Parts: sequence; structure tokens; C-alpha cells
Amino acid sequence: MSSQVTAIMRDFDAGLAPYAAHSAQSRGRTHAEPGPGSRSEYQRDRDRIIHSTAFRRLEYKTQVFINHEGDLFRTRLTHSIEVAQIGRTLARSLRLNEDLVEATALAHDLGHTPFGHVGQDVLNECMKDFGGFEHNLQSLRVVDHLEEHYGAFDGLNLTFETREGILKHCSLNNARQLGELGQRFIERSQPSLEAQLTNLADEIAYNNHDIDDGLRSGLLTMAQMEEVELFVRLHREVEARYPGLPGRRALYETIRLMITAMTADLVETSARLIAEAAPSTIDDVRAALPLIRFSDAMRAETVALKRFLYANLYRHFQVNRTRVKASRIVRELFEAFLTDPVLLPGDYQVQDDPHRQARKIADYIAGMTDRYAIREHRRIFSLEHF
Ligand code: MG
Repeated sequence: MSSQVTAIMRDFDAGLAPYAAHSAQSRGRTHAEPGPGSRSEYQRDRDRIIHSTAFRRLEYKTQVFINHEGDLFRTRLTHSIEVAQIGRTLARSLRLNEDLVEATALAHDLGHTPFGHVGQDVLNECMKDFGGFEHNLQSLRVVDHLEEHYGAFDGLNLTFETREGILKHCSLNNARQLGELGQRFIERSQPSLEAQLTNLADEIAYNNHDIDDGLRSGLLTMAQMEEVELFVRLHREVEARYPGLPGRRALYETIRLMITAMTADLVETSARLIAEAAPSTIDDVRAALPLIRFSDAMRAETVALKRFLYANLYRHFQVNRTRVKASRIVRELFEAFLTDPVLLPGDYQVQDDPHRQARKIADYIAGMTDRYAIREHRRIFSLEHF
């Protein structure tokens, strides 16, 4: 039996490129634990993430549209699942570690505040005298400290490689306080190819699903899409292949082709860059330039698409209205809690340490779902609800 288990364990890294992140060579976890048995180290990370409280909250956190605006829009949860799916496909094509990509993708937005990016911007302003607020760092804080699932440690005690992938960006100031994990921001070295890849899978996922959600909501129109060259080109291809195909099907077909074009370009370009750099190990990857990339042509198309979405969807006046209202909710909650910490649940109250108190308030607010933040604001400020 035990030799059979050992045989299975050896298989986890079989077929991976030599420069991939190998489960058997992980830099390990902060708190030593027995081996993961029938799973690889990264499969264990993935399972811990899926069972976390923060993961379940993603269902009620905004991607672009607030959760109650419609049943079919992406949430942080479905977004994270799409990132994992695209990421795994890319990883398999490049012989990288699918399990690590999946774990990183499912965890990458765990630290997101309610109401999407505006929540993070407002919390960052509120926290300016207390060390600021970065959602990437907050995702790491969730898995390192805030989850309460284990007897022996706070957080989920994930592997170095998953934590490295979660921390996409980080200010130098914060990097200096993160020890080994912050080192790459100081040295300007690269993370694993799996981390680089998950970052771009995130971009492929939101650039495409935001077109779908934007059109579904009516905030974007097909006429406006004429501005996006990549979309126009592939939409014409769909029309030629299926003349007269009804709008929504033609749209899905077009988005499918867009995802295929982006992933194919990414795999082809990255495979070429990897072949040129010829890394033998993950350490060579860390010392090289970024090797997971789009071609210059595809990069220009994705930049144009992002600009289009920014101007026409993320800054649409209806989205602005929600954003301004959401920013007021987050700011007013923060200020109320900072002025009167007695309003906070007992375990979020800190005596005589304003910095720790402010951080606890940021943790409390960041952990809220959209609807919880709306309700909490009503509970605290509404004179009609006691
Ligand atoms: Mg994301």
C-alpha cells in the first residue's frame, strides 16, 4: 500500500517541463505539516482555498456589476473559475503545473473588497495614515492570517509558490516587510511561470467576459463594438461561417474566437521566448525576463480593448452612479468604525493601538460582500432601521 502511495506521489510532476514549479521541490509552507498524502502540495492548496470562508464570499462580490443587478453577470466567484479554466488550459499547453495555476487563480481575488475596484481605492485612501490598503496584499493576508480553519495556525498555511502567485504586485515598502516572498519586488526578479501565466489568464478572462456582461446589461452596444478591431475581425468571421446567426449566439461565437486567439498567441509567443531563454530550472525562470507574454501585435489589441472597456463600460454613467454610491458606503463605514470602534463586533475592537485598530477595520470591511456592506451601512446610519 505505502509503495503504491509513493508511486502515485512521484507521478504528480511527471510530464512537467524541467523549469515548471514541481510539487516535490516546493519551497514549502510556513508551518511544517505532514505530506499531503494522495494529493500534490498544490492540489492541497487548491482544496484549502475552495473550503475557505473568503472563497464563498466571492459569490456576492462585484466584478463590474453589483451582485443584485442581475443573475447572469459575472461575480468574483465565476470570474475566478474562468481564470482557473483558462489558466489550466494554458498551463497544460506549456507543460507547466496546472494544479498550481488552478490554486493561484482561485485565490487571486480573495482579498477583494465589496464593490470591486472602487472599494479598494477608497479603503486605500482611508488607510493612508495606517499603511494603506492593496487588494493583492489583502488576498495574501487572507490566506496567511485571516482565515480561521486550523488548530495549529492562523490562515491556510499555503505553499510558497501559491502565495507568490497571489501577490501579483506589491509596493517596495510592503515588500520589505514580507521576507522571502517580498524579495522579488526588491530584486526585480520574476515569479514562477505559473504565476506569470495566471496573471495573463486573469486578463484574458475579464477582457472577454466584460464584453459579454457589458452587452447583456445594455451599457455597451454592438455599434460601439465596431471600435474594437479584434472583435470586428472575428465577428465577421463568425458571420461568414454562420450567415444570419442570431445576435447572442454570434456574440458567444465571437468571444470564443477571441479567447482562442489570445490563448493561442500567448502559448506560441511564450513557447518561443522559453525556447530562446532555455531555462533549465525554476531558478533560471526567476532570473530571466518575463517569459509568459503576448506577441506585440496581440498586446496592442488587448490594450486597445482595455481602453475601450474603460471608457465605455467601467466609466459609463450608470456604473459611475453605483461607484460613487459604493464609495460613500465604504468611506462612511470606515469613518464610523474609526470614530466609534465600539460599533464593531467584539473581536474587531482593539484597545489603545490606532494602527492595529485601523487595520482590523480594513479587514472587516474588505471581508464584506456587497450586500452585507449595504446592510451594515443601513444598520449604522439609517434612522428608520433600529
Ligand atoms: Mg481577477
